[in-house]
Amino acid sequence: MMYRRKLSARVEHRQQEAERSRASASLAEKFPQLKSLTVELSYFSPDGGSRGSQIKYTVNPAHAKSVFRFDCQNHECVRGDFDLSMALAQAVAARRGTATGEVCCQGWLSKTTIDSVHCRNLLRYKLSLEYTGG
Ligand SMILES: [Zn+2]
Repeated sequence: MMYRRKLSARVEHRQQEAERSRASASLAEKFPQLKSLTVELSYFSPDGGSRGSQIKYTVNPAHAKSVFRFDCQNHECVRGDFDLSMALAQAVAARRGTATGEVCCQGWLSKTTIDSVHCRNLLRYKLSLEYTGG
C-alpha cells in the first residue's frame, strides 16, 4: 500500500516555476535603468473570442522578480503559463515606452490530454515602462 502519492504534473510544474522565479534577480537588479513598470493583462479563450479577467497593476522593480511569469487561467492547465521575461528584457534593451503582444499558452489542456491537446489560452499584454536618467 502506498502512503505517498506522486505530485501531479501540474502541481510539480507550478512549484518548479515558483522556485525559478524566487531564485531570480529582482527587476531592479537586472534592469537598473528601469524606474517603473505597469502591466496590463487580458486573458482570452484560445479562439480569442471570449475575454476572461483583466488585470492592471504597477510593479515595484525592487521587489518583482526578473523571471516575469503569470499563471494560465485554465485551472486544468498542465505545464503551461505565460512567461513575459523575454518580452520585458527586449523592451528594456530597446528603451521602449510601451510593449504589447500576445502569447499563447503552450501547456496541455488538462491532465487527460497530456501529449495530445494543447491549452492555447491567450494572454494579451501591454507593458508601460519608464526609465531613469532621461
Ligand atoms: Zn494554459
